[in-house]
Amino acid sequence: MGECVTIDQLVNIEQCEICCTPVGYPNVIFYRNNGRTLCANCYKMIKEEKIDREYEKNNFLKLLDSIKNTDKRYHAIFAYSGGKDSTVALYSAIKDFGLKLLVFNFDNGFKGERVINNINNVIRDLNVDFYQIKSQTRYTIIQDINNSIFPCGRCSSLKTLYPMLTKMFDVKYVITGIECVYNNEVIRNRGTFYQINWPAVFNWSKNDIESRIKNIPWEDPNYGPFDSDCLCPIIALRKIYGSSVSPNLDLYYGKKEQHVVPYYARLVRYGAISKADFYKIICTNLIVDNECLKEEFEKIARENGN
Ligand SMILES: [Zn+2]
Repeated sequence: MGECVTIDQLVNIEQCEICCTPVGYPNVIFYRNNGRTLCANCYKMIKEEKIDREYEKNNFLKLLDSIKNTDKRYHAIFAYSGGKDSTVALYSAIKDFGLKLLVFNFDNGFKGERVINNINNVIRDLNVDFYQIKSQTRYTIIQDINNSIFPCGRCSSLKTLYPMLTKMFDVKYVITGIECVYNNEVIRNRGTFYQINWPAVFNWSKNDIESRIKNIPWEDPNYGPFDSDCLCPIIALRKIYGSSVSPNLDLYYGKKEQHVVPYYARLVRYGAISKADFYKIICTNLIVDNECLKEEFEKIARENGN
């Protein structure tokens, strides 16, 4: 194990100029051209056409008429995580545009009490219909965490539920709180339904989200960096890096399964966090020692049988 990496060192490592992934990171291809260094993901991104934000928004406004022109009970399903972005998007869809929504939540078993409280408060405040699926992913995620594997990505199986849900509730649209998208992902044709990424439609900035959340009965759960709907990332970081040690870049290279750098580099690539945030995450001790986290570790220990 080498020295702990400092922000100065990390900034000076040769890296992708867009997402900061260090050159040589396992399983990532890098291109060097005309003095530029790009990872394959960012290279692909800039090669594709940039979306025309005004065009996309106007497209959505036209679509809105046909979404609302129905006698059906719901205009759309809203995929609600309970996090900051999806909360702001949910309020906007209902309060600004008068959509009749079935609010759907996928509980991966790691929402924690604070997020569950937020979800309950929001549902009560909006007085909307709510449908929740509690999944078995908790068991898989605990196995990941025990093996020091970053579990984010496990919940992507959630996507496979939408064809069933849209059929079940007789709707053609699923609205999400996803903001970090580019190209044609503002409104996506998913075959049997359309996915509308609400913050992307309106091109909200972090400040837009912050100012909107202030007027909503929602409290920041303080679950660690940039996650306001799930305890998994902070639990995984704590497990992988311990409670007091600054992360060491060697650890990121050490295990193929660790997704910490790719996970946060992706957020930089799509503009959800800044480069400065990325360096801070990689280099500083991010452990949030709050009561929820302690309780969750105790629960996991009990589930592990010790
Ligand atoms: Zn990159």
